[in-house]
Amino acid sequence: MDRLAKRYLRSRKIPGTTCSGCGLGQVHKKVLLAIEQLGLGTKDIVWGTGIGCAGRQIFNTWKGDNFAGTHGRVYALATGLRLALPEERKIILTAGDGDAFGIGLLHLLHCARRNLDVTVVVADNFGCQSTGGQYGCTTPRGYVTDSSPYGVREPGWLENGLDILDMLRDAGATFLARHSSFEGQSAVDSCAQAIRHKGFSLVHFIYPCVTHFGAVSLQSGDKARIFRWFEGLFRPEAGNSGDPRFRSGVYHDAGSSRPEFASSLKEWTRTVRREAAGRD
Ligand code: SF4
Repeated sequence: MDRLAKRYLRSRKIPGTTCSGCGLGQVHKKVLLAIEQLGLGTKDIVWGTGIGCAGRQIFNTWKGDNFAGTHGRVYALATGLRLALPEERKIILTAGDGDAFGIGLLHLLHCARRNLDVTVVVADNFGCQSTGGQYGCTTPRGYVTDSSPYGVREPGWLENGLDILDMLRDAGATFLARHSSFEGQSAVDSCAQAIRHKGFSLVHFIYPCVTHFGAVSLQSGDKARIFRWFEGLFRPEAGNSGDPRFRSGVYHDAGSSRPEFASSLKEWTRTVRREAAGRD
C-alpha cells in the first residue's frame, strides 16, 4: 500500500482508523491498484463517499477532489458533477451496504436507471457495523447481531433467491461485478473495467468486519478463522453453477447498449438550443 498511498492518498489520513484486521483496506487497495493499472492520476478522478465504516474511513483520503453525501445523496451530487465535468474525468463513489443497498437504495436504482457514468464501489460488511453492529439488509439470515439476539429473521438481499445485483441489472446498470476483499488481480481487473466503462458500473465487495460481525455473529476473536469464513462464501472460479456460494467476477456487462445519461442530456440540450436559435 505504501507506493499507492504515497501516490494517491493524503498523508494525514494514513494510517486510517479502521479496526485492526478489518477488510476495508483491502477493498480500497483494489480500487487504487485498478486506478494505477489504468495509468490515472489524482487529477483524473473525483471521489465521493457515503456513510458508515466505508464512508468514514475512505472520506477525503483521495489526494484529488473529494465529496460526501450520505444515504444515497452521493449519486445526486455525482449527477451534477457528471454534467459539469469533462467526460474523461472519472467519478468513483464508495458506499457501504446499509447506505447503498438499504436506506439509499432508491437513489442507487435511479442512478442505474439513468445509466450515469460513475463507478460505485459497495464495501459490504454484512450489517451496520459503524453504529455498533446492528443487522442490515445483507446480514445473513439466522445470525446473531447486537440488534438480533435470537438471530436475524428476515431474508437479506443476498439469499433466498434474491440477489441485489439482479435488481440493479433490471434497473438498467450496464456493468456489475462482485468479489471478496481477499481476491487479487481478478478483483483489480473488475475495478479497472468498471472505471473504464462508460455508464453506470458497480463493484460489490464483501469484506470481513472483525469487530462486530466476526466477534458477535461468528463468535470468534480469531481473525484467521473469520477470514476463512468469509473466503468460504465464494465458490472457486471453476465451481459449478448450481453451487449456492457467490460467483466472483463480472456479473453483467451490457457494454454501450444503453445511452449514458450525461452525454445524451448534453446532446439533447445542444439540439434544443440549435432549434431555439433557429426560431429567433
Ligand atoms: S467496525 Fe468492522 S467494518 Fe467497521 S472498521 Fe471496525 S472491523 Fe471494519
